[in-house]
Amino acid sequence: MSTSPKGCPVAPRSGGESRVIVVGAGPAGSTAAAYLAGAGLETLLLEKSAFPRAKACGDGLTPRAVKELIYLGIGFPAEEGWRRNRGLRVFGGGHQLELPWPQLASFPDFGLTLPREQFDLRLAQNAQAAGAELLQATTVTGPLLDDRTGRVIGVTAATDQGERVFKAPIVVAADGVSARLATAIGRQKKANRPVGVAVRQRFRLSRPPTRPGQLDWMESHLELWDGEPGHGKLMPGYGWVFPEAAPETGSNASLGATVVNVGVGSVSSSAKTSRTNYRNLLRTWLTSLGPLWGFSEEDAIDPPRSAALPMAFNRQPLYARGLVLVGDAGGMVSPFDGEGIAYAMQSGRFAAAAIAQGLARPAGENREAALRTYAESMKESLGGYFSLGRVFVKLIEHPAVMRVCTRYGLARPTLMKLVMKLLSDLYEPRGGDWADKTIAALARMAPAA
Ligand SMILES: Cc1cc2nc3c(=O)[nH]c(=O)nc-3n(C[C@H](O)[C@H](O)[C@H](O)COP(=O)(O)OP(=O)(O)OC[C@H]3O[C@@H](n4cnc5c(N)ncnc54)[C@H](O)[C@@H]3O)c2cc1C
Repeated sequence: MSTSPKGCPVAPRSGGESRVIVVGAGPAGSTAAAYLAGAGLETLLLEKSAFPRAKACGDGLTPRAVKELIYLGIGFPAEEGWRRNRGLRVFGGGHQLELPWPQLASFPDFGLTLPREQFDLRLAQNAQAAGAELLQATTVTGPLLDDRTGRVIGVTAATDQGERVFKAPIVVAADGVSARLATAIGRQKKANRPVGVAVRQRFRLSRPPTRPGQLDWMESHLELWDGEPGHGKLMPGYGWVFPEAAPETGSNASLGATVVNVGVGSVSSSAKTSRTNYRNLLRTWLTSLGPLWGFSEEDAIDPPRSAALPMAFNRQPLYARGLVLVGDAGGMVSPFDGEGIAYAMQSGRFAAAAIAQGLARPAGENREAALRTYAESMKESLGGYFSLGRVFVKLIEHPAVMRVCTRYGLARPTLMKLVMKLLSDLYEPRGGDWADKTIAALARMAPAA
């Protein structure tokens, strides 16, 4: 019996096939790698950049993502820079509403923020501690295919030492929205799935916040105007302000040294490209938001960064011919709120479970059946919910619907409690209150496509 990098015995596998390659050490890849290594598989995690690396993200973790951290056994002490939040503070149509994260048996009741530079590093370190081998500055350039079957049997990569070839019976594509590996073997994105675009920038506050509890909430601003506020086009999307700890102070909020991650994101029901200039949209919003929060352009701590948000399983199949798609590579951002980290981590967890079962069987149909359970379990867990999200995007694409929702919806706190549970995917799948039961029934009825 061989040993894994952390010294644990590697379970004997048929034909010595205990190796898995994971491409990309974002939340999806590092989560998958941690579980794979924990299951005794020889796990190679290939990452093109070197940590810590910047990432276009709001840095916001809902209770759904916190739950994934708890599954992984990763703590979130304030001294490491994690900042807790109580829920959403929503603005729109002249209303302001505080919606605490719901009290549920299935999820914790708090969210977190941590800059992605630190968050992704923490997840990658966790995968290494579990026994995965992380190779940084290793850009995967393409899949290695079996000539006879067309099956993926490894990858080629560009490294400082030149081109390298890595072989394994299973490759996990966790390479994010670029989905280079999936595209290379012909898994194109589905044109009928929503796609979002978001841009964000971080600012240091130059004075302590003036509104009570201002740092305790993740702020969402539902009126996103393309053009002059009140007169331009009302966009399907929202702006956010997520408070986080200033890098040098940990989350010692009493120092008042706080950074805010500010961004705007919008969504379209199909993959057609939008003509909106999102960076201009953010810049325009910042001129009114900055004075309210106490920052100006000079307080920026990094440049604006933007990226696309692939939604509702826009690339499928999630498993076929030796290649597993997780996270953004499989289009797993929520059409409801643009959240992607929790789903990336969930997919990594589900994928690792199916791969461990598959590799414990001889190569052949029986192993393939075990590997396909990954796609089935993801569809069962999220397919109906994502289908509802596709309908939601089609509705809010109409500015009139968006206007009615913000003007009249926000004035009804009971309705908003249901809306909050629906948009943040935080409901009891079984039991719970009337809102949980309503959402669970709708998600069950919606076809998982
Ligand atoms: C502006 C913006 C704000 C967002 N805000 C939030 C938020 O607040 N909360 C939230 O939950 N979600 C948010 N999202 C979505 C979230 O960022 C993604 O859904 C999430 O990062 C997906 O994780 P992933 O691991 O699948 O991909 P990624 O995080 O993109 O990780 C992919 C990794 O693969 C590596 N890689 C890529 N190509 C290769 C290659 N060829 N070889 C080797 N390595 C490679 C990359 O360097 C990267 O490390 C936001 C997105 C944007 C654009």
